[in-house]
Amino acid sequence: MQTNGHTKNGHALPLDAADFSDAEERQVVIIGTGPAGWTAALYTARAGLEPLVYQGSEPGGQLMTTSDVENYPGYPEGVLGPQMMDDFEDQATRFGAEVRSGRVTDVDFSGRPFRLLVDEETPVRARAVIIATGASAKYLGLENEQRLLGRGVSACATCDGAFFKDQEVAVVGGGDSAMEEALFLTRFASKVHVLHRRDELRASEIMAERAFDNEKITFRWSQEVRDVLGEETVEGVLVEKNKTGETYELPVEGLFIAIGHTPNTAPFAPWLETDADGYLLTEPDSTHTNVEGVFASGDAQDHVYRQAVTAAGTGCMAAIDAERFLAEADANSEIDEERTETEYHEAAAQDSEEQATLS
Ligand SMILES: Cc1cc2nc3c(=O)[nH]c(=O)nc-3n(C[C@H](O)[C@H](O)[C@H](O)COP(=O)(O)OP(=O)(O)OC[C@H]3O[C@@H](n4cnc5c(N)ncnc54)[C@H](O)[C@@H]3O)c2cc1C
Repeated sequence: MQTNGHTKNGHALPLDAADFSDAEERQVVIIGTGPAGWTAALYTARAGLEPLVYQGSEPGGQLMTTSDVENYPGYPEGVLGPQMMDDFEDQATRFGAEVRSGRVTDVDFSGRPFRLLVDEETPVRARAVIIATGASAKYLGLENEQRLLGRGVSACATCDGAFFKDQEVAVVGGGDSAMEEALFLTRFASKVHVLHRRDELRASEIMAERAFDNEKITFRWSQEVRDVLGEETVEGVLVEKNKTGETYELPVEGLFIAIGHTPNTAPFAPWLETDADGYLLTEPDSTHTNVEGVFASGDAQDHVYRQAVTAAGTGCMAAIDAERFLAEADANSEIDEERTETEYHEAAAQDSEEQATLS
């Protein structure tokens, strides 16, 4: 578990410089418009909380980068990722969710109402905050990788494996996730090539053994993918043997990149508990973070399932948690003891002093 607690340590300065005295105040601000954010928006809007939703730099989230989604319930024929996110947006805005462009760049969760800074300049206050900022798959940064994303290049075997029935695919990575992806792909693919830049795996022994025992999986040690080949769809990968520098073309129809994900949680890290990889920690069976009134949902909090339907599920949970939190706070009249600008800055200065004494 990692947290910097309620400190100013490593905290960006713009928020301290911003003037919140006339800032707009909302019941709930939802950060992110992937499946988690839109579902939280739908539920909080239907609960009459008039949520404000910030889209960030990837409106619609990860599904905007994919074509067919075949595993979201309610779409028997499948649906294109961007279409599905349009549907989510239409449903949430129909009940009054207000969506704005902008990225939350800094927050102050030291007292309520919470303070958020959008695009480093616009101050907003919120009685409750739902974080739905997702996670970004790490890619290799190859010249043709993004062009062929969704056309054979994927970062999710659970999502896209079924499209590669009886075809040869490659998996890049050497950890547990890479082994899981490779093993899952053997259900569909005729052959799975695992390319790993080292000559041994990082994966746990049990996962490695399962992969070694599977006759559909071939390991290509000390080899790195240098580019993805193909015009419309993936036709192969250019591989370099890193011990000799020799290159060759491996004909495959799919390339699965399994080198990890980065949760988009940096602005919140000074205030919220995270695991060692930066995923937000929540109390068991809930979306409560360590700060009362701040809730976390979707891939920013879930590094296990990472699916649209699970993200939507925790988005729903976060909305219900936020609604109950606000109702209880109203009933107890205990929330939002308004702090003046001076009081905020005094508290921040005191935090800094305490930090300086501790370090
Ligand atoms: C190529 C691909 C194909 C996939 N296919 C499938 C599939 O077929 N089926 C399936 O179930 N899942 C699939 N997934 C996984 C699925 O997309 C994710 O599990 C899901 O999108 C997670 O939803 P989320 O709402 O948590 O986050 P995301 O969808 O990642 O959305 C995050 C949102 O937060 C916003 N944001 C981030 N930081 C900030 C900030 N600081 N301020 C404001 N906004 C911010 C972003 O702009 C974005 O709108 C796929 C993923 C990929 C990459």
